Amino acid sequence: NLSDKLDKALHILKGHGQITEVNVAETLKEVRRALVDADVNYKIAKEFTATVKEKALGQNVLKSLKPGQLMVKLVKDELTELMGGDVEDIDLSGKPSIILMSGLQGSGKTTFSGKLANFLATKKTKKPLLVACDVYRPAAIDQLHVVGDQIGVEVFSDRGNNDPVAIAKAGIAHAKENGCNVVIIDTAGRLAVDEVMMTEIANIHEAITPNETLFVVDSMTGQDAVNTAKAFNDVLNFDGVILTKLDGDTRGGAAISIKSVVNKPIKFIGTGEKMEAIDVFYPSRMADRILGMGDVVSLVERAQEQFDEEEARKLQKKIAKNQFGFDDFLKQIQQIKKMGNMKDLIGMIPGAGKMMKNMDIDDDAFRHIEAIIHSMTPEERSKPQIINSSRKKRIGKGSGTSIQQVNQLLKQFDQMSKMMKMMQGGGGKRMMQMMGK
Ligand code: GDP
Ligand code: MG
Repeated sequence: NLSDKLDKALHILKGHGQITEVNVAETLKEVRRALVDADVNYKIAKEFTATVKEKALGQNVLKSLKPGQLMVKLVKDELTELMGGDVEDIDLSGKPSIILMSGLQGSGKTTFSGKLANFLATKKTKKPLLVACDVYRPAAIDQLHVVGDQIGVEVFSDRGNNDPVAIAKAGIAHAKENGCNVVIIDTAGRLAVDEVMMTEIANIHEAITPNETLFVVDSMTGQDAVNTAKAFNDVLNFDGVILTKLDGDTRGGAAISIKSVVNKPIKFIGTGEKMEAIDVFYPSRMADRILGMGDVVSLVERAQEQFDEEEARKLQKKIAKNQFGFDDFLKQIQQIKKMGNMKDLIGMIPGAGKMMKNMDIDDDAFRHIEAIIHSMTPEERSKPQIINSSRKKRIGKGSGTSIQQVNQLLKQFDQMSKMMKMMQGGGGKRMMQMMGK
């Protein structure tokens, strides 16, 4: 993938003191090739490397103290610039603010509508309403209701009505009557760009004049993503791009191309199927990610959001008093699961992405552990030392696991408890720091 290729291209320069004009040119050629391979338009890639070269010469990279590092920084800064430079907010000033989703079928509009509603609802001042305007499939309306229930956000729909413009208007009226200050309108997409879809979304757009029109695109669709973005932008002149499915192997080639071709900012990214798998798009972090440095900042930030501080303090007390039990352990697992897919998280750790590529890690990794803990009595959970062999047998049977698996978990838990005790003093903060490093 792009990241591996850029890694290779930059390898000569990274850390090493000696570079010459020849290997600057050679490296930039590799960088260009890697970008083109990742679906970046050839012209854009060529301009990109030309700019980097010019800057490198202008800053006298070859004579600098650490030319390799300076080159990496130049490439990174330039990539960041290419993807928009600064973070772009969405317009929430409307009363209510109207956000219109557009994009092909399967791009992730419905999922992202839910994620955005959830994201905004956690800011205490926002009360979102989801509006179901995909009238072609009853299942689409159901899907939005499921999402709404999951995150505790109201969904407005009108199953008898097949006029999306009317539903959108009624939804906005409903929001006004019920004190909702953000209206997120989920629309129908089709598998490919066609006139019917474009006319429909243009009609909705014209009728409701949204504060934000967002174009949702599957980052795995490569060069097609750029063509689709162009088609939608020609009709809607949208305000921002949402790049979904960035949890897979894709490394952001689409981000570079789309920004360059339609010149609209990427505002959010989707990194998984869960409602929490949403991140603000940071061009500089994406550049890091493309360059294979790992999106550590995002990882740490997400972890900080999910770990409730109060909980953490309570936990620290328990550890100090040797009262950490399986109930607490279970809570920890649930916290980790809330952070998203394990694979996504591991992929964000520098270096780990490559190592873990072939390993089969998913949420199921915790299934056995959870089952075993659920089969324990409250007393066993708080005092694991009482779990003798007959108790082990019972727990194994109850959870559908083997005695070996029960033993293994007890052993791991024991080791972990000892380690936690040892780490006391530094506390949770130190653990977070370790995670970051
Ligand atoms: P829509 O047709 O545009 O409304 O697309 P959906 O929201 O129904 O999403 C299509 C599929 O993509 C569903 O199976 C989603 O679970 C999945 N999906 C959406 N966003 C993401 C994402 O960021 N990562 C992953 N892995 N899957 C996603
Ligand atoms: Mg949908």
